Amino acid sequence: MVPRTPAEPLLLRLKIEAAAPLSPGGGGGVAWGPYRPVFRRGGRPVLPGSSLKGRVRRAVEALARDFGIRACQPQASPTCGPDGCPVCRMFGSPRAPGGLRFWDTCLEEAGDRQAFEARSHVGLMRGTGSAYPRRLWLEERVGTPGCQYEARITGIVERFDLGLLLAALRQVEVIGGSGSRGTGWVTVRPAEVQWGGHTVDPSVLVKDFLAEVGRGAGGNDPPAQDQP
Ligand SMILES: [Zn+2]
Repeated sequence: MVPRTPAEPLLLRLKIEAAAPLSPGGGGGVAWGPYRPVFRRGGRPVLPGSSLKGRVRRAVEALARDFGIRACQPQASPTCGPDGCPVCRMFGSPRAPGGLRFWDTCLEEAGDRQAFEARSHVGLMRGTGSAYPRRLWLEERVGTPGCQYEARITGIVERFDLGLLLAALRQVEVIGGSGSRGTGWVTVRPAEVQWGGHTVDPSVLVKDFLAEVGRGAGGNDPPAQDQP
């Protein structure tokens, strides 16, 4: 068991480097209509905090599963007790809000690399490869490879959970796009981590986290048993 530690205030600044244009708000569903603009707030292109949160949450859930850490599945009724699992503690559950807040990321960059473009896509049927009727759409994209953006996560978090979060951020490769359509490929790395009023080294937190789980710890509970 990993002993619970007090949750401390967090300021996490992330550097997001684009390897491809981003298309937050582009989505991939049929119901989005023929033109899918980049999400904007106040006229500026933005990666919504909710979109970043969703991607990061999936990465945390996947990594928690890899290490046998108890973590609630998305959309499922949480089975957590009052203290919650790391996922519920950080991202929230129907029972309680999460400790982390994900802020909107402005997708404007100083310099001349800022660029919008529209790319047309055709929805193809599996198997036959023929086009779906009315499934031609234009997807707006922003930025070029090499563009750098700064994202921000704040809130309160325990040390173990922060180590899990930082380790999972290394696994995030697509943000604000589909990946399969060539949008949203990124590299994410922490630019600054302030936790509990101090600047901390993210690699130390990840190392400590890996040491904890390497000892067979499962967050706060032993790993689930498949067989009775
Ligand atoms: Zn949970």
